[in-house]
Amino acid sequence: MIDTIANVSDLEDQHSSGAYLKRDITIVRGAGATLWDDRGNAYIDCVGGQGAANLGHCHPAVLEAITRQSAELITCPELFHNPVRAEYQAALCQVAEMPRAFLCNSGTEANEAALKIARLKTGRTGIIATMRGFHGRTMGALSATWNKEYREPFQPLIPNVTHVPYNNIDKLREALNADTAAVIIEVVQGEGGVHPAQDGYLGAVQDLCHTNGTLLIIDEVQTGFGRTGYLFAHQRDGVQPDLLTVAKSMAGGIPMGAVLIGERVGELPPGTHGSTFGGNPLACGAGLAVLKELTVGASGPDVPADGNLITRARELGQQVIDHFRANLSENAVREVRGRGFMIGIELRGKVAPILKALQERGVLALPAGPSVLRLLPPLVISDDDLWQAVTIIEETLNNAF
Ligand SMILES: *Cc1c(COP(=O)(O)O)cnc(C)c1O
Repeated sequence: MIDTIANVSDLEDQHSSGAYLKRDITIVRGAGATLWDDRGNAYIDCVGGQGAANLGHCHPAVLEAITRQSAELITCPELFHNPVRAEYQAALCQVAEMPRAFLCNSGTEANEAALKIARLKTGRTGIIATMRGFHGRTMGALSATWNKEYREPFQPLIPNVTHVPYNNIDKLREALNADTAAVIIEVVQGEGGVHPAQDGYLGAVQDLCHTNGTLLIIDEVQTGFGRTGYLFAHQRDGVQPDLLTVAKSMAGGIPMGAVLIGERVGELPPGTHGSTFGGNPLACGAGLAVLKELTVGASGPDVPADGNLITRARELGQQVIDHFRANLSENAVREVRGRGFMIGIELRGKVAPILKALQERGVLALPAGPSVLRLLPPLVISDDDLWQAVTIIEETLNNAF
C-alpha cells in the first residue's frame, strides 16, 4: 500500500520510464477546473489535461456516459457493428462536416493514420509540415514534428518530409512538387509556442494543395472541441481539410483519436488500416456526451444563457488576451498570442521558474517551449477562477524579471 506522500514520488521515480520530467506534486482528484494534491491543496487548472480536459475534470455528463456504457459493453473491435459507435460516428461527421471517420486512440495515431491515408490515396510519398509544428511521437507523426530534440535521436525517420516556415505561403509554394502527398498543419501551433495562423494563410494553403493534387491534413488534436472558441478552429478560417485529425478532449479525458475523411479522399479499401481499441464503445459513449455538451448546450452558474461554452471561450478568452496585453509589463513579456482559451505568453526569460512560482500560488500552467507560458483552462472554468488565475499570473510575471 502507498501510505505516505514520499512513497508516491519515490515509487514513480523508481519504476516509471524516466521519459517525463515531473513536477513535485501528486494530483489525486479533480472537479471542473480544480485539481487537488495529496495534501489537500487546491489548484486552479490552466493545464487542462494538456488539452484533454476541455470539459474539465470528472464532468457529470461524461461520468454518467461512461458509467452507463461500462455496464453495457466496454470493448468491441470493428469486426462488428455497434450502436454507440454508429451514433458517435454520425454525430462527429455531422459537426465536422466531413463524411467519414477512422477512430483510434490518440493524437499521434490519428496523424499516423492521416499520413498513411494520404500516401495510399495519392500514390505519392512526400509530406510537407511546418517549422515549430508538433504532430506526435510515433515514427510517422514524429517525422512531421519539427523539434530536433524529439526527432534526431530516432533517425532515420520516414523519407521525403520537409518543413517550411509557418505563415509563409511562398515557401510552401516552392516546396510543393509532383510527389507531395500531403501538407500537414495546425491552425494554432500549440507545442511550438501558441502561434495562430494569420488570416488568409490557411485558405492559401488549401488553394495550393488543390492546384497541386495534394491533400490538406489539418491537425486539430489540440485546437479541437471548442478550445479556440470554435468547435474546430479551422471553421473560423473557412477552410475545408481533406483529412482532419482530432484527439485530446474528444472523449472527456478517455483516450480517443480520430481522422475525419473528406470527399476528395473517399472510402478506404478494407484492410488498409486498423486498431484493436479504435471505436470502442466506452470512448464512443464518452465522445457522444462531449459533443452533446459542446453543441447542444451545457448548464451551470458560469455558462451563458444559451448554454454555449464555445462562444463563452471565444469572448472571454479574447478579454483575457486583451487584459494581458494591457497589463503585463514589457520588461517581462514579449508578446501575448492566442485564440479563445488557448493562450500563449512569450516571456523575456525562462518559463520554468514561472511555472513553479505559479504552482506555489495555486495555479497550474504549461510551457510551450523554453520561454512561452501556455494556458489551456477547461472551458467550464468559472469567471471567478479564471480572473483569479489571471491576477496571479499578472502579479507573478510583473514581479519576475
Ligand atoms: C498533443 C498533440 C499531438 C499528439 O497527441 P498524443 O495524443 O499525445 O499522441 C498531435 N498533434 C498536436 C497538435 C498535439 O497538440
